[in-house]
Amino acid sequence: MRVGFGYDVHRFVQGRPLILGGIEIPFEKGLLGHSDADVLLHAICDAMIGAAALGDIGAHFPDTSPEFKDISSLILLHRTAALLTGRGLRLRNIDSTIVAQRPRLSAYIPRMVERIAGQIGLTSDCINIKAKTTETLGFAGREEGIAAYAVALVEEPQEKEEGGGKGSLEGLN
Ligand SMILES: [Zn+2]
Repeated sequence: MRVGFGYDVHRFVQGRPLILGGIEIPFEKGLLGHSDADVLLHAICDAMIGAAALGDIGAHFPDTSPEFKDISSLILLHRTAALLTGRGLRLRNIDSTIVAQRPRLSAYIPRMVERIAGQIGLTSDCINIKAKTTETLGFAGREEGIAAYAVALVEEPQEKEEGGGKGSLEGLN
């Protein structure tokens, strides 16, 4: 098993839609970014990339590339999942926290979970999203932006097979 951690922040601006967890959330401001600025999906991608020891999201999807301009982060998530699969790694579960003073997000979380599950081939009981305020403290509390944290657990199937060596060790005793 391997664990990965991800963190991301985007600032609020006027005139952009607020996209979180792959869905649009009605709000008077949106997040600024080269892609759709889905801070939650970026943290999840970084957790997955981290678990695979493949660097970070910027190395795989550079924010200088026109290919990723205004791209849906669901596509980045899907491609990140493919990156892990290509290395024989199997994603087991994701836990995450969105830090936002406003808007209230709890009502949208089940839909976010469904969206994410659909992109990475996990069942919804393997994905958890929490939403927290900071009790008005800091940049999130001042509603200047949103932060997100995520962890991902991945399994290495090859390692399991190598476990055959365990039997021979037992045989020595
Ligand atoms: Zn980001």
